[in-house]
Amino acid sequence: MGGTSDGRQLAERLALDPRYGVVLSFAGRTRSLQLPPVPCRVGGFGGVEGLVEYLRRESCQALIDATHPFAAQMSLHAVRAVEQTGTPLLRVECPAWQRAAGDRWREVPDMEQAVAALGQAPRRVFSSVGRLEVEAFRAAPQHHYLLRAVDEFSIELPHARVLAARGPFDVAGERELFERERVELIVSKNAGTAATYAKIEAARALGLPVVMLARPVLPPAPTVAMWQSALDWLDRLHGAGASRRGV
Ligand code: NAP
Repeated sequence: MGGTSDGRQLAERLALDPRYGVVLSFAGRTRSLQLPPVPCRVGGFGGVEGLVEYLRRESCQALIDATHPFAAQMSLHAVRAVEQTGTPLLRVECPAWQRAAGDRWREVPDMEQAVAALGQAPRRVFSSVGRLEVEAFRAAPQHHYLLRAVDEFSIELPHARVLAARGPFDVAGERELFERERVELIVSKNAGTAATYAKIEAARALGLPVVMLARPVLPPAPTVAMWQSALDWLDRLHGAGASRRGV
């Protein structure tokens, strides 16, 4: 289960290994989805029962959850589904970003708290939290918002602009963007990925405050921090000399 660059890289690597038959699954949220050159499926499974049915129908012998750390429902469904099927499950999840010297973070548990943290006085806000989450900003229409997302979208806010862009981003570019747009405050998910960390570094360099959305709590599952470790897990699971397996 993908939707991240980790999932994509892992699937591409597994597709080169004749011991494995891999299918990479996407939710299908992104309109500009670029499918990698590996077998893919797109769309929800239909809840826990749908995933159970899929794992059985496709005789999957391993399930790797390489979804985004904020894709909490899918990760929960994976845990519940393998309880029924007995399929070995591994979660690939990069560690959360840690506050460094010079960071001015305010950690919040959800978007409601993030909006409250913006304060009453109008400010110039940069946010990359995602198309669905930005709806919460409608509760504070006094601010100016620069909203970056993979796809273009519209939002009913008097002072909002959408910036469609796909990472990875670099620090110089992020810094230039924040200065040009006179950004005063950043709202970010604690994604933990290197691909989007540049905005946090740029904020630090410019002394900008960051409202940081804490990660959702996921049910426990065997977890590795890097997609490469999933290769070792599969090797251990099925034995280095095993014949073709479904992942
Ligand atoms: P979510 O809330 O955890 O999942 C909602 C539903 O979307 C799931 O119940 C499932 O539908 C379907 N779904 C999610 N990931 C799927 C996958 N990889 N393959 C097939 N179906 C999937 O997930 P989300 O936050 O909407 O994220 C959707 C996708 O975008 C994920 O693949 C995630 O990795 C990626 N993404 C999310 C974020 C984020 O901040 N949330 C950021 C970047 C990328 P059914 O119940 O019908 O099976």
